[in-house]
Amino acid sequence: MIHKAKKSLGQNFLKSKGVLLAMCKAGDLFKSDVVLEIGPGKGVLTEYLLRSVNKVIAIEKDHNLCEILFEKFQKEITSGHLVLIKGDILEFDPSVYDLKSGEYKVVANIPYNITGAIFKKFLTEDTQPSTMVLLVQKEVAERIVARDGKESILSVSVKAYGTPKYITKVSKKFFSPAPKVDSAIVQITSISKKNFASPLAPLRGTREGKIQEKWFFQIVKAGFAHKRKVLIRNLDAVVEKKKIKEFFEKNNINEKVRAEDISIKEWLALAKELE
Ligand code: SAM
Repeated sequence: MIHKAKKSLGQNFLKSKGVLLAMCKAGDLFKSDVVLEIGPGKGVLTEYLLRSVNKVIAIEKDHNLCEILFEKFQKEITSGHLVLIKGDILEFDPSVYDLKSGEYKVVANIPYNITGAIFKKFLTEDTQPSTMVLLVQKEVAERIVARDGKESILSVSVKAYGTPKYITKVSKKFFSPAPKVDSAIVQITSISKKNFASPLAPLRGTREGKIQEKWFFQIVKAGFAHKRKVLIRNLDAVVEKKKIKEFFEKNNINEKVRAEDISIKEWLALAKELE
């Protein structure tokens, strides 16, 4: 069956064996691992994943591609090696497929138009993966790891849940059709909610030294709200200026500092102490 790539579904298919191998390597895959693949497309990455692990769950939104995949992987589907789901990843509930928090990995060449939604879903999800290896736009990968030394809401949000690493650049020429921009493989390991208190805890006030997720993001968003303002001025929209100054003094942070210069460790301390 001939398939014409759909732009609306971010269909840029991989055609480089080297990139497929690099993604599997970044996943640090063991036979016993369970891998969730977002958007298997025509199944090129799926094939490599199936060679590496005993169970792959792949979810594809495109009806035509699903037909191609059902035919291509008939044997693997029958044996249970591959679970192929026709559906939307953003509506996917991992627990329905018996996936448990910290007990599966996500490895995927994702549709770029839903990159943010995919990160949000899998990092804040109750049933989080332990590791994610994603092929994303190069600029997004660079921003996640703060390659230029400047943090952003995106980098702080990802680092609050796991440890991101920039693996390698992937030129646009390795895709068909070629996208407009280059890509990069980004790996996020040690994903957990260890920094955050249970959502049932009160909004203000910590539990066992942990921070309310909602409060953390409230303070991070306030901190980055106005790019030109220094952090203290941005934060005084949500916290008393006196308290912020005391925190800065105690932690040897310069009063002129901007949100982009604050490390994840300092953001966590800031949220904990100002709660
Ligand atoms: N994995 C294939 C590859 O590397 O060649 C295809 C990658 S392509 C960038 C993204 C894939 O995600 C496409 O097959 C597309 O149909 C699928 N897709 C787009 N939106 C989706 C969604 N919301 N849920 C699941 N799959 C989706």
